[in-house]
Amino acid sequence: MSDAFNNRLAQARTAAASAGIDALLITPGSDLRYLTGYAALPLERLTCLVLPTDGEAVLVVPGLEEPAAQASPAGGLDLRILPWSETDDPFGLVAHTLADVRRVGLDDHMWAEKVLRFRAAMPDAEQVLAGAALSELRIRKDADELDALRAAARAIDRVHARMPEWLKAGRTEHEVGRDIADAIIAEGHVSADFVIVASGPNGASPHHETGERIIRAGDPVVVDIGGTTAAGYCSDETRTYVVGEPPAGFVTEYGALKQAQEAAVAQVRPGASAESVDAAARDVLHEAGLGEYFIHRTGHGIGLETHEDPYIVAGNTRPIEPGMAFSIEPGFYVPGRYGARIEDIVVATEDGVERLNLRPRELTVIDADA
Ligand code: ZN
Ligand code: ZN
Ligand code: ZN
Repeated sequence: MSDAFNNRLAQARTAAASAGIDALLITPGSDLRYLTGYAALPLERLTCLVLPTDGEAVLVVPGLEEPAAQASPAGGLDLRILPWSETDDPFGLVAHTLADVRRVGLDDHMWAEKVLRFRAAMPDAEQVLAGAALSELRIRKDADELDALRAAARAIDRVHARMPEWLKAGRTEHEVGRDIADAIIAEGHVSADFVIVASGPNGASPHHETGERIIRAGDPVVVDIGGTTAAGYCSDETRTYVVGEPPAGFVTEYGALKQAQEAAVAQVRPGASAESVDAAARDVLHEAGLGEYFIHRTGHGIGLETHEDPYIVAGNTRPIEPGMAFSIEPGFYVPGRYGARIEDIVVATEDGVERLNLRPRELTVIDADA
């Protein structure tokens, strides 16, 4: 992997230069992990990759984090690890490393407290977002990243496959959610990032997580779950289940949703705009009389973060390119009654699309008295 990381560092320098940025300052988070493989925790003590467009790359770390940084993939890259001790001023150290720069690109998720301390340490440097340079690199996944996303998708598929073990009438959403969270870890993730179990009327809220509601026979249940694997890549998959006999009309509506999801996936190919993928799903639901109940965008990019570029939403005219990975997740949400959503992660290929999640998309009816 060290060749891949050194490559990314070189690409980031080039991208920064073309964005008119003299140096990138990258604090712990997905950009640092993308560039160096170092999965550092964001802490009050400053850890910062200083990546000038010209000159030596330096990873400034608190002295007590130096062994961890050395042991990470960053220890084998074309950069110098520079520890600071408890009484040093690490912001001054970074400013000193850079001498004179006119414009610095700060990590998009840098803590405000650190942004202001960098401003004080480099009062003459304009601060812009590093994302202007980095999101263009991260938006297309390389072969290693696609393998990692496939592994994450298969892991969450295995969790959905076990849903009948847990999803039963008489249990609360919380109880089901706890079992799912355990299984997310057991099936190949290092963290369970979110567990949505939205039964009956709770399904009408797309981001309802879990609550005390007891699941009843006849409830549609939206289960949207995801985690992060040891490689740092995220999974995110939704299936809609019904416990027992579905409510009147729901099966027909769900059929339209399944068609909408298929239409959007079929629209994914290089050159098609992101908004055309959204429109493909929206048109089908509109024709079925469900348009007003589809209240969110069709999808979001995924990689080292669950939500990242590209967003599959009206107004995003950006053409799809090979290597882009994103969710296709249309839904309908009927207040006071129920909701439904089908979500898969897909990747745009040279000539079409690859689905990463492979669980069946038919409405899964779970026996109410099981
Ligand atoms: Zn969401
Ligand atoms: Zn989801
Ligand atoms: Zn999603």
